[in-house]
Parts: sequence; structure tokens; C-alpha cells
Amino acid sequence: MTEPQWLEAWSAEEGARRVDELFTRSFDGSPEGVWSAPGRVNLIGEHTDYNAGLCLPTALPHRTYIALRPREDDRVRLVSAQAEGVWEANLSDVAPGTVTDWGAYVAGVAWALGQAGYKVGGFDAAVDSCVPFGAGLSSSAALEASVAVALDAVAGLGLAASDAGRAELVDASRLAENEIAGAPTGGLDQSASLRCREGHALLLDFRPGLKPLESGVPVPFDLATAGLTLLVVDTRAEHSHVSGEYGARREACERAAALLGLESLREIAPTLGGVGLDRALAELEPHDPDGVLRRRVRHVVSEIDRTARFADLVREGRAADVGPFMLASHASLRDDYEVSCRELDLVVDTAVAAGALGARMTGGGFGGSAIALVRLSDVDAVARAVANAFADADLTAPAFLLAPPSAPAA
Ligand code: ADP
Ligand code: MG
Repeated sequence: MTEPQWLEAWSAEEGARRVDELFTRSFDGSPEGVWSAPGRVNLIGEHTDYNAGLCLPTALPHRTYIALRPREDDRVRLVSAQAEGVWEANLSDVAPGTVTDWGAYVAGVAWALGQAGYKVGGFDAAVDSCVPFGAGLSSSAALEASVAVALDAVAGLGLAASDAGRAELVDASRLAENEIAGAPTGGLDQSASLRCREGHALLLDFRPGLKPLESGVPVPFDLATAGLTLLVVDTRAEHSHVSGEYGARREACERAAALLGLESLREIAPTLGGVGLDRALAELEPHDPDGVLRRRVRHVVSEIDRTARFADLVREGRAADVGPFMLASHASLRDDYEVSCRELDLVVDTAVAAGALGARMTGGGFGGSAIALVRLSDVDAVARAVANAFADADLTAPAFLLAPPSAPAA
């Protein structure tokens, strides 16, 4: 018997106390304020964001906290409870390729707000987080979003006050991650951290040119009333070549779209008025001797359709019926998109055998986390079954989180 290791979310008071203390210990005086932003889980809609498709994330109760104070000059000084030493740079020196390490996510947001025409100066900041790193729960976006709302407040930009303004903070956070931290992610993570609402999932539509209110629609997602909860399992699996594989998947999608004469694979999805999968696959066949392109396309298009139908069920208050869509999503990611791994498959198979209504990998894949939709009365049994299965397979013990749909960056 292996006891499951639970990763509890900090209370807002505890998070604020931690970063306030770290700030005071590291710099002279007190911070101007404390802000925080959540990690996220994606319920469904994986590898669809960069295909102009649909995703359905919720915010985690686990958050990254930042205590920040603006400076008179353009220096940025940063400390984190999760990193050694002080990270320092001049804001005027921050540009693509000039900074490295974790401070790139932070200074990158200030740089991106500057690129968008906002006046942001230097600052001192202290960071602490209960979002696990590199677990597919978007600690990077939680960090960026916490910085975005902090700078929004101290520079008096007023963007966090409206959903449209938050969409601008999303753009700045994503630009920071893409250009300064050098991670080519698609915008799902930052949108979730900045725009999700408590008790809701956020239906994100990545079609270009949509207005913010069309691109992100909150959908009430009341699990507790249905006697359900979302269990997150951080597999703690670490795999190499993750970013290379991610880039290869993106390239395959772009290549398939170009061969079909489409702007994006979304244009195939029948639920969104597309030409349909059969026709697209037939057209690709002569260009695709080994079938890889067609498998990638089949995942993206079927996933967009599953996400639309999943969101419809949630909207109708039928959260208990989404399990089969989660399982189909996982199978598609495993077999067609080939981004799952042994640990993720083990969570899904074990959770379902132990009574979960549905389960799937979440996030980019190759490790990271899986989610399971579980009756409240079964949480303990499912977690124990997964912990035991990992122990039996000689794998690193996973960590378990409960993920009621929580509040955005504030
Ligand atoms: P994920 O977003 O899935 O957790 P990423 O690789 O995208 O994984 O982001 C993790 C990176 O983000 C870390 O390696 C670190 O550079 C940075 N990061 C996130 N949170 C913090 C933090 N609290 N303190 C310092 N760096 C952080
Ligand atoms: Mg990330």
C-alpha cells in the first residue's frame, strides 16, 4: 500500500505571507502589493490552440504569488523561493535572445507590455508558488500572469479590470513566453490563467480575428453539485526532446494545412462548418506515404469536435456525461498524435479501472499531468489505485491535486 501524496493549494493569506516575507528578506522595505495567478488544467482540446481550434481549460486553486514594488530606474531584480540567488537585468536590455533563465518569463512580460505601447518601468519582485513546475499545469503562465496583473496595477494600466483588457495581458504574457523565454506555446495557458472564472470552464476559440468576448466564453462547470470532482495526477515523469517533439507536431499541422490549401486545420472540423475529415484525409493521401500527417490531422480535427460537444454537455449541466469524450481524447493523443507516454497511460487506465468516469492526459504530453473525473466518494480509492500502480511499476511516486474550477489572476 502506498499513501498518495497530496499537493494542497495555499490559502491566499499563506501565499501573500510567503512572498511578503521573501520580499522583505531580499530587498529593503516592503512591497507595494501582492498579486497571484493560477496554474491551469485543460479539460479537453489538446494541441488545438495552434490550429485555430477550441480548448476548455479551468484555473487551478494552486497559484503563483508575487510581491512587487516599482523602481525609479529600469532595473529588474527578482527572487524566487523556487530559484537560487537574485536574477537581475536592465529592462532596456531585454529583447529576444538577450536574457535567460526564469527571469525571462518575468522581465519578458514587462518587455511585451512596452512593445504594446504601455509605459512600464523597473521593479523588485519576490515570487513563490504551489504550482508544480514542468508538470503540464502551466507554472510558466501562472508566473507570467502574476507579473502581468502586478505591473498592470503598479503602472495604472487598468487592463485587468475588464475581460478585453485581460485579453491584452494574455497577448503580452504569450509574447513574453514565445519571444523572451523562447517557448513556442499557443496561448491556451495564459488565457486560462488570466481569463478563467471561479466555478466555470473557459471555452477558448483560437480563430484569428475574434474579439475577446467571442474568443473566450465562460461556461458554468458545477462539479460539486453533481457530486463530482476533478483529480489531477502529476506523473512527475521527465522526458527529454519534449520541445523538439512539440515543434515537430506544429510543423506537421502547418504542412498538412498548406497541402490542403487551408489557413489552419480548424477549417476541416465539421462542427465548425468545415469540409469534413474524410475529404481532407483523401486529399492528403498522395503526399503522406507513411500516414503520419493523416494521423496528426485526424487528432486535431476530432479533438476540436470533441471539445465543442464536451462544452455543449457542460453547458447543459451534464458534466457527469463527459467521461467518454475524455477517454476518446486520450486515445487520440496516444495513438494518432503520439504525445502520451507510459506514465500518462497508466494513470488513465488505472483511474478508469478504479471507478473514474473519464480520464485523459492534459497539457502538451510526454510526461506532465493527467486528469480524472471522479465521484467525490471515489477520490480516495482512485488516488490509492494510481499511487499503487506507480509503485508496482517502479515509477517515481506521482503527486495528486484536487482541482475545483478556481479564480483567475488578481
Ligand atoms: P510548466 O509551465 O508546465 O510548469 P514550463 O517548462 O513551461 O512548465 O515552465 C516552467 C519554468 O517556468 C521553470 O523552469 C521556471 O523557469 C519558470 N517558473 C515557473 N514558476 C516559477 C517560480 N515560481 N519561480 C521561478 N521560476 C518559475
Ligand atoms: Mg509552461
